[in-house]
Amino acid sequence: MYKYETHLHTAETSDCASAPGAMQAKRYKILGYDGIFVTDHFYNGNCRPEIRECGDYRKKVELFCAGYESAKAEGDKVGIKVFFGWEYSYEGADLLTYGLDKQWLLDNPDVCQISVFEYCDRVHRDGGFIVHAHPFRDAGYIREIHLLPQWTDAVEIFNSGNKTPEMNARAEWYAGQYGLPVTAGTDNHHLSAERLSGIVTDKPIMTSGDYIEAIKQRRLSLILPDEV
Ligand SMILES: [Zn+2]
Ligand SMILES: [Zn+2]
Repeated sequence: MYKYETHLHTAETSDCASAPGAMQAKRYKILGYDGIFVTDHFYNGNCRPEIRECGDYRKKVELFCAGYESAKAEGDKVGIKVFFGWEYSYEGADLLTYGLDKQWLLDNPDVCQISVFEYCDRVHRDGGFIVHAHPFRDAGYIREIHLLPQWTDAVEIFNSGNKTPEMNARAEWYAGQYGLPVTAGTDNHHLSAERLSGIVTDKPIMTSGDYIEAIKQRRLSLILPDEV
Protein backbone atom coordinates (compact mmCIF):
# COMPACT_ATOMS: atom_id res chain seq x y z
CA MET A 1 0.00 0.00 0.00
CA TYR A 2 1.28 3.46 -0.92
CA LYS A 3 0.13 6.73 0.61
CA TYR A 4 0.02 10.14 -1.06
CA GLU A 5 -0.98 13.66 -0.10
CA THR A 6 -2.84 15.25 -3.01
CA HIS A 7 -3.46 18.82 -1.80
CA LEU A 8 -0.66 20.78 -0.12
CA HIS A 9 0.52 24.38 0.07
CA THR A 10 3.96 25.85 0.83
CA ALA A 11 5.03 29.09 2.48
CA GLU A 12 7.33 29.98 -0.42
CA THR A 13 4.40 30.23 -2.84
CA SER A 14 1.04 30.41 -1.02
CA ASP A 15 0.31 33.52 1.02
CA CYS A 16 -1.82 31.59 3.53
CA ALA A 17 0.69 28.79 4.18
CA SER A 18 3.32 28.82 6.93
CA ALA A 19 5.25 25.62 6.20
CA PRO A 20 8.19 25.65 3.77
CA GLY A 21 8.03 22.95 1.11
CA ALA A 22 11.14 21.20 2.43
CA MET A 23 9.68 20.90 5.93
CA GLN A 24 6.47 19.41 4.56
CA ALA A 25 8.39 16.85 2.52
CA LYS A 26 10.30 15.83 5.63
CA ARG A 27 7.16 15.69 7.75
CA TYR A 28 5.23 13.51 5.31
CA LYS A 29 8.22 11.17 5.04
CA ILE A 30 8.22 10.77 8.83
CA LEU A 31 4.47 10.17 8.75
CA GLY A 32 4.96 7.26 6.36
CA TYR A 33 3.67 8.81 3.14
CA ASP A 34 5.26 7.76 -0.16
CA GLY A 35 4.64 11.02 -1.96
CA ILE A 36 3.11 14.49 -1.93
CA PHE A 37 1.61 16.71 -4.59
CA VAL A 38 2.47 20.37 -4.05
CA THR A 39 -0.60 22.33 -5.20
CA ASP A 40 0.05 25.96 -4.36
CA HIS A 41 -2.47 28.72 -5.02
CA PHE A 42 -2.10 29.80 -8.61
CA TYR A 43 -1.53 33.35 -9.95
CA ASN A 44 -5.29 33.93 -9.75
CA GLY A 45 -5.56 32.58 -6.21
CA ASN A 46 -3.92 33.31 -2.91
CA CYS A 47 -0.31 33.05 -4.06
CA ARG A 48 2.23 35.40 -2.53
CA PRO A 49 1.68 39.00 -3.71
CA GLU A 50 5.14 39.28 -5.26
CA ILE A 51 4.16 36.39 -7.56
CA ARG A 52 0.78 37.82 -8.49
CA GLU A 53 2.27 41.24 -9.18
CA CYS A 54 5.45 40.12 -10.96
CA GLY A 55 5.62 41.69 -14.43
CA ASP A 56 8.46 39.52 -15.74
CA TYR A 57 6.73 36.27 -16.68
CA ARG A 58 9.79 34.02 -16.49
CA LYS A 59 10.55 35.38 -13.00
CA LYS A 60 6.89 34.85 -12.04
CA VAL A 61 7.14 31.16 -12.98
CA GLU A 62 10.41 30.82 -11.03
CA LEU A 63 8.84 32.37 -7.94
CA PHE A 64 5.72 30.24 -8.31
CA CYS A 65 7.74 27.01 -8.50
CA ALA A 66 9.86 27.84 -5.43
CA GLY A 67 7.70 25.92 -2.95
CA TYR A 68 7.57 22.81 -5.12
CA GLU A 69 11.30 22.96 -5.83
CA SER A 70 12.12 23.29 -2.14
CA ALA A 71 9.94 20.27 -1.38
CA LYS A 72 11.38 18.30 -4.30
CA ALA A 73 15.01 18.90 -3.26
CA GLU A 74 14.28 17.71 0.27
CA GLY A 75 12.16 14.83 -0.99
CA ASP A 76 15.01 13.58 -3.16
CA LYS A 77 17.26 13.72 -0.11
CA VAL A 78 14.99 11.94 2.38
CA GLY A 79 13.30 9.59 -0.08
CA ILE A 80 9.74 10.73 -0.70
CA LYS A 81 8.26 11.49 -4.11
CA VAL A 82 7.30 15.11 -4.73
CA PHE A 83 5.00 15.98 -7.62
CA PHE A 84 3.98 19.32 -9.12
CA GLY A 85 0.53 20.76 -9.49
CA TRP A 86 -1.35 23.91 -8.61
CA GLU A 87 -4.75 25.17 -7.48
CA TYR A 88 -6.30 27.48 -10.09
CA SER A 89 -9.09 29.72 -8.81
CA TYR A 90 -12.21 30.76 -10.67
CA GLU A 91 -14.59 32.86 -8.60
CA GLY A 92 -14.67 30.49 -5.65
CA ALA A 93 -14.17 27.29 -7.66
CA ASP A 94 -10.74 25.87 -6.92
CA LEU A 95 -9.37 23.58 -9.59
CA LEU A 96 -6.46 21.32 -8.64
CA THR A 97 -4.46 20.84 -11.80
CA TYR A 98 -2.09 17.90 -12.24
CA GLY A 99 0.09 16.45 -14.97
CA LEU A 100 1.64 19.67 -16.31
CA ASP A 101 5.07 21.07 -15.51
CA LYS A 102 7.10 24.24 -15.19
CA GLN A 103 7.76 24.25 -18.93
CA TRP A 104 4.00 24.26 -19.53
CA LEU A 105 3.72 27.37 -17.39
CA LEU A 106 6.57 29.02 -19.32
CA ASP A 107 4.85 28.12 -22.60
CA ASN A 108 1.50 29.57 -21.49
CA PRO A 109 2.09 33.12 -20.29
CA ASP A 110 -1.54 34.06 -21.03
CA VAL A 111 -2.89 31.32 -18.72
CA CYS A 112 -4.74 33.82 -16.54
CA GLN A 113 -5.95 36.00 -19.38
CA ILE A 114 -8.03 33.24 -20.96
CA SER A 115 -11.43 32.16 -19.59
CA VAL A 116 -11.76 29.27 -17.18
CA PHE A 117 -13.29 27.23 -20.04
CA GLU A 118 -10.34 27.87 -22.34
CA TYR A 119 -8.09 27.05 -19.41
CA CYS A 120 -9.74 23.66 -18.91
CA ASP A 121 -9.59 22.93 -22.65
CA ARG A 122 -5.92 23.81 -22.83
CA VAL A 123 -5.04 21.76 -19.75
CA HIS A 124 -6.83 18.74 -21.23
CA ARG A 125 -5.30 19.23 -24.68
CA ASP A 126 -1.86 19.06 -23.10
CA GLY A 127 -2.55 15.98 -20.99
CA GLY A 128 -3.41 17.65 -17.70
CA PHE A 129 -6.17 16.65 -15.30
CA ILE A 130 -8.49 18.80 -13.18
CA VAL A 131 -9.92 17.87 -9.79
CA HIS A 132 -12.53 20.23 -8.36
CA ALA A 133 -11.33 20.88 -4.79
CA HIS A 134 -13.90 21.22 -1.99
CA PRO A 135 -16.76 22.24 -4.34
CA PHE A 136 -19.20 22.87 -1.50
CA ARG A 137 -16.93 24.68 0.93
CA ASP A 138 -18.77 27.40 2.76
CA ALA A 139 -16.38 30.25 3.57
CA GLY A 140 -16.27 34.01 3.52
CA TYR A 141 -14.12 34.15 0.40
CA ILE A 142 -16.58 32.07 -1.64
CA ARG A 143 -19.58 34.12 -2.72
CA GLU A 144 -21.18 31.61 -5.05
CA ILE A 145 -20.91 27.89 -5.71
CA HIS A 146 -19.66 27.23 -9.23
CA LEU A 147 -19.95 23.66 -10.51
CA LEU A 148 -18.17 22.72 -13.73
CA PRO A 149 -18.93 19.02 -14.29
CA GLN A 150 -18.33 19.17 -18.05
CA TRP A 151 -14.99 20.86 -17.59
CA THR A 152 -13.46 18.95 -14.70
CA ASP A 153 -12.33 15.34 -14.39
CA ALA A 154 -12.82 14.40 -10.74
CA VAL A 155 -14.09 15.73 -7.43
CA GLU A 156 -12.31 16.04 -4.08
CA ILE A 157 -14.99 14.51 -1.86
CA PHE A 158 -13.02 14.77 1.36
CA ASN A 159 -11.01 17.86 2.32
CA SER A 160 -9.66 18.15 5.86
CA GLY A 161 -10.06 21.95 5.67
CA ASN A 162 -13.83 21.73 5.29
CA LYS A 163 -15.33 22.87 8.56
CA THR A 164 -18.42 20.64 8.63
CA PRO A 165 -19.14 17.08 7.42
CA GLU A 166 -21.93 18.40 5.15
CA MET A 167 -19.42 20.15 2.91
CA ASN A 168 -17.76 16.82 2.16
CA ALA A 169 -21.07 14.93 1.98
CA ARG A 170 -22.37 17.36 -0.67
CA ALA A 171 -19.19 16.91 -2.70
CA GLU A 172 -19.67 13.15 -2.59
CA TRP A 173 -23.28 13.55 -3.70
CA TYR A 174 -22.19 15.79 -6.57
CA ALA A 175 -19.53 13.33 -7.78
CA GLY A 176 -22.07 10.52 -7.61
CA GLN A 177 -24.70 12.45 -9.55
CA TYR A 178 -22.30 13.10 -12.41
CA GLY A 179 -20.41 9.81 -12.24
CA LEU A 180 -17.13 11.62 -11.63
CA PRO A 181 -14.20 9.81 -9.99
CA VAL A 182 -13.15 10.99 -6.54
CA THR A 183 -10.10 12.02 -4.49
CA ALA A 184 -9.34 13.21 -0.97
CA GLY A 185 -6.74 15.66 0.35
CA THR A 186 -5.69 17.58 3.42
CA ASP A 187 -5.37 21.06 1.88
CA ASN A 188 -2.41 21.31 4.24
CA HIS A 189 -0.99 24.79 4.87
CA HIS A 190 0.89 24.30 8.16
CA LEU A 191 3.23 21.88 9.90
CA SER A 192 0.73 21.82 12.75
CA ALA A 193 -1.97 20.36 10.47
CA GLU A 194 -3.66 17.32 11.91
CA ARG A 195 -6.30 15.01 10.43
CA LEU A 196 -4.15 14.32 7.40
CA SER A 197 -5.92 12.90 4.38
CA GLY A 198 -4.85 11.81 0.90
CA ILE A 199 -5.12 8.62 -1.08
CA VAL A 200 -3.81 5.05 -0.94
CA THR A 201 -2.89 2.94 -3.97
CA ASP A 202 -1.83 -0.68 -4.46
CA LYS A 203 0.90 0.22 -6.95
CA PRO A 204 3.45 2.98 -6.40
CA ILE A 205 2.85 6.31 -8.15
CA MET A 206 6.01 7.23 -10.04
CA THR A 207 4.66 10.11 -12.15
CA SER A 208 1.72 12.50 -12.16
CA GLY A 209 0.43 10.41 -15.07
CA ASP A 210 0.26 7.36 -12.79
CA TYR A 211 -1.85 9.39 -10.37
CA ILE A 212 -4.19 10.54 -13.12
CA GLU A 213 -4.66 6.95 -14.31
CA ALA A 214 -5.33 5.76 -10.75
CA ILE A 215 -8.07 8.37 -10.35
CA LYS A 216 -9.65 7.65 -13.75
CA GLN A 217 -9.63 3.90 -13.21
CA ARG A 218 -10.80 4.37 -9.61
CA ARG A 219 -7.84 2.34 -8.39
CA LEU A 220 -7.37 4.24 -5.15
CA SER A 221 -8.87 4.48 -1.71
CA LEU A 222 -9.32 7.62 0.32
CA ILE A 223 -7.66 8.44 3.64
CA LEU A 224 -10.58 9.70 5.73
CA PRO A 225 -9.67 11.11 9.16
CA ASP A 226 -12.53 11.59 11.61
CA GLU A 227 -14.81 14.49 10.80
CA VAL A 228 -14.62 17.42 13.21
ZN1 LIG B 1 -4.65 28.67 1.13
ZN1 LIG C 1 -5.81 24.33 -1.35
